[in-house]
Amino acid sequence: MADVLVLGAGIVGVSIAIHLLKRGRTVVLVDRREAGEETSYGNAGLIQREGVAPYTFPQDLGEILRYGLNDRIDMHYHPLALPAVAPFLFRYWRASRPQSYALVKRHYEPLIRHCLTEHGALIDEAGAGALIDKKGWYRVFRTAEKRDAQFAEARTLAQEFGVGHAELDAAAMAEREPGLGAAIVGALHWTDPWSIRDPGALVKAYRDLFERLGGTVVRADAMGLERKGAGWSLPGGIDAAEAVVALGPWAGDLTSRLGYDLPLGVKRGYHMHYGQSGNRPLANWVQDAERGYMLAPMAMGVRLTTGAEFAQRDAPSTPVQLDRAEVAAREVLPGLGGRLEAAPWRGARPCTPDMMPVIGRAPRHAGLWFAFGHAHHGMTLGPVTGRLVAEMMTGESPLIDPAPYGAERLLG
Ligand SMILES: Cc1cc2nc3c(=O)[nH]c(=O)nc-3n(C[C@H](O)[C@H](O)[C@H](O)COP(=O)(O)OP(=O)(O)OC[C@H]3O[C@@H](n4cnc5c(N)ncnc54)[C@H](O)[C@@H]3O)c2cc1C
Repeated sequence: MADVLVLGAGIVGVSIAIHLLKRGRTVVLVDRREAGEETSYGNAGLIQREGVAPYTFPQDLGEILRYGLNDRIDMHYHPLALPAVAPFLFRYWRASRPQSYALVKRHYEPLIRHCLTEHGALIDEAGAGALIDKKGWYRVFRTAEKRDAQFAEARTLAQEFGVGHAELDAAAMAEREPGLGAAIVGALHWTDPWSIRDPGALVKAYRDLFERLGGTVVRADAMGLERKGAGWSLPGGIDAAEAVVALGPWAGDLTSRLGYDLPLGVKRGYHMHYGQSGNRPLANWVQDAERGYMLAPMAMGVRLTTGAEFAQRDAPSTPVQLDRAEVAAREVLPGLGGRLEAAPWRGARPCTPDMMPVIGRAPRHAGLWFAFGHAHHGMTLGPVTGRLVAEMMTGESPLIDPAPYGAERLLG
C-alpha cells in the first residue's frame, strides 16, 4: 500500500507526485495514458510569468454582443451548448466585475510569482534545459490604438506586480523577427516568461525524474476510485492512504461521482503545426493581439494555437477558429508553410468560474485532495501547485497562503 495515489499525469499531477516523493511519501502516479499526452501536450508552451491577470469575461454589452455574432478567432461557441454552459458563464461574468476581479488578481499573483523558480528547479533536476527558451514572448499589434492601450496596461502591471516588459516599434520588432509581414505596427515584449519547445516532452522528462527518484507509474482508470477503510483504492489492488485528483478537464467527472457539485467548465482549444518557407523563420513566440491566436515555433513545426471555444467538452471538433486564424497568420508571417497534420489537435482548458484553480483538501472526505482548474495557465502553474499540495499534505508551512484556492469557495 502506497502513501498517495496521484490521479492524472499531466503537468499538475506529475509535479505533485515529484514533490510528494521528495518529502518521503511513497507515490503511485495513475493515468489511463502515457504522461503528458492530453492538455499538457497540446498547449502553447508558455511559462507565463507575466500572466498575473487571468482572462476575464467581457463586461461591456457591445463587446458581448459582438462575441455573440460567433464569427471571431479568439472565441467561438456552440449555440446548442449555451443552456448547459450558461450558469458557468454567468458566474464567470460576475467574477470578472471590477471589484471581484481586483481580488482575484491579488489572490492569483502569488501563484504566478513562483512559476519560473519552481519550473527551473524541476527542469534542472530533470536535465530538460534543452527544451526551454528564456527569451520571453511578443504580442504584436496591427493598430496604434490597441498597441497604445496594451502598452499602458503593461505599465500598470509592471508597477503593480513587477512583471518585465519592453515596448517595441515596428522597426525594432522587424529586427527581432525579420520574417513578420508589414501589418505590424509595434509589439509588446513580455521579457520574463520562458517557452517550451515541446510541452509534452517536458512532462515526460518530469515523469522520468519521478521514476528515477523511486516513484511508480501505473496505467489505470481513475474513475474506479473507491473508499477502502480509511484509505483509497483502485481496481487491481492499487491502494493508498490518500489520493489527489489532478485530472485536468476530467476532474469534475470524478468529483461529481464523489458528491461534489463544483461549477467547473472548459474552454476548448485547437492547434496545428505548420512548416516554414524562406530564410527568415520565426524564432520567437508571437501572439496576434487583435485576432487572438498564438504562433509558437516548436520542435515539431510552428504550432498555431487558438483561443477559447465554449462547447460541451466531448462534442465533435469544430475548428473554425483555426481556419480563420490561419488566414490571419499568413498576413503576420508570410513564410508560414503548409499544415503538417491531417487533422487539428483539440484539447480543453480546465476552468473554474472565478479564474483560479482548485488546490487543497476535499471538503467532505479525509485523505482526498484536489488540484485542477488551471485554465489558461496550467503549464505555467503545474510545479508551484505540486509544491503547494505536497507542503499542505505533509504539514510543512506552505510557500504561499493556500486559503484562496480551496474548493469551499465554489460550493453552494
Ligand atoms: C490551446 C491551448 C493552449 C494553452 N497554452 C498554454 C500556455 O501557453 N501556458 C500555460 O501555462 N497553459 C496553457 N494552456 C493550459 C494548459 O495546457 C492546461 O491548463 C494544463 O495542461 C492542465 O494540466 P493538467 O495536468 O491539469 O491536465 P492534463 O494535462 O489534461 O492532465 C490530466 C490527465 O488526466 C488523465 N485522465 C483523465 N481522465 C482519466 C481517467 N478516467 N483515468 C486516468 N487518467 C485520466 C489524462 O489522460 C491526462 O493525462 C493551454 C491550453 C490549450 C488548450
